[in-house]
Amino acid sequence: MAVITTKYDIGDTVWYANITTTTKHHDCPDCLGSRKWTCESPAGGTFEVDCPRCSVSYQSHDALNLKYSIWVPTARCLTIGSVRADTSEDGHQYMCLETGVGSGSIYRENTLFETQAEAMASAQVEADANNADGEGWVAKQYDKTASFSDYQLKDAVMAAAESRASSALYACGYLLDDLDNAESLEDVRNTMAAWREKQAA
Ligand SMILES: [Zn+2]
Repeated sequence: MAVITTKYDIGDTVWYANITTTTKHHDCPDCLGSRKWTCESPAGGTFEVDCPRCSVSYQSHDALNLKYSIWVPTARCLTIGSVRADTSEDGHQYMCLETGVGSGSIYRENTLFETQAEAMASAQVEADANNADGEGWVAKQYDKTASFSDYQLKDAVMAAAESRASSALYACGYLLDDLDNAESLEDVRNTMAAWREKQAA
């Protein structure tokens, strides 16, 4: 008879390493961090209003948005409720009292640790890797929000419009090059359809 040992037993307290995202802001070039603007009315009254660049909860204009997300580590204290031994590469799995036994979350052994510090350290490695992944949405969003974050409000609007106009011009140039090389009307139609699809994406 084989005896399989697992790292944890029913009733053990463990720390689950995981990652989540949190929202950060680039420094606001408009209010310099005060989140307030002082405004003067035509009648001469002076008011404080929330900075329209960084205090609004919904920012429809991409170029003005200073918010971005990053991955951060988390560690949750759990109590082992059931153990599923698995000698394959996937490793042993556990279910915990706090999140359901029988039905609920399943935790792989390599995500559970004896101390909070160990779980946080492991999760930090994963968070760092995700943040550094240039193909990930977090890195892409950061680059996008960083591109105009140094510009003040009115310059950011202008710079974003110029950037859009110049990309449109390049896109048209590439289309014309492709059309120059087209050999048939069908070729022309396909090239244009592909270009429109790309623009809409
Ligand atoms: Zn601001």
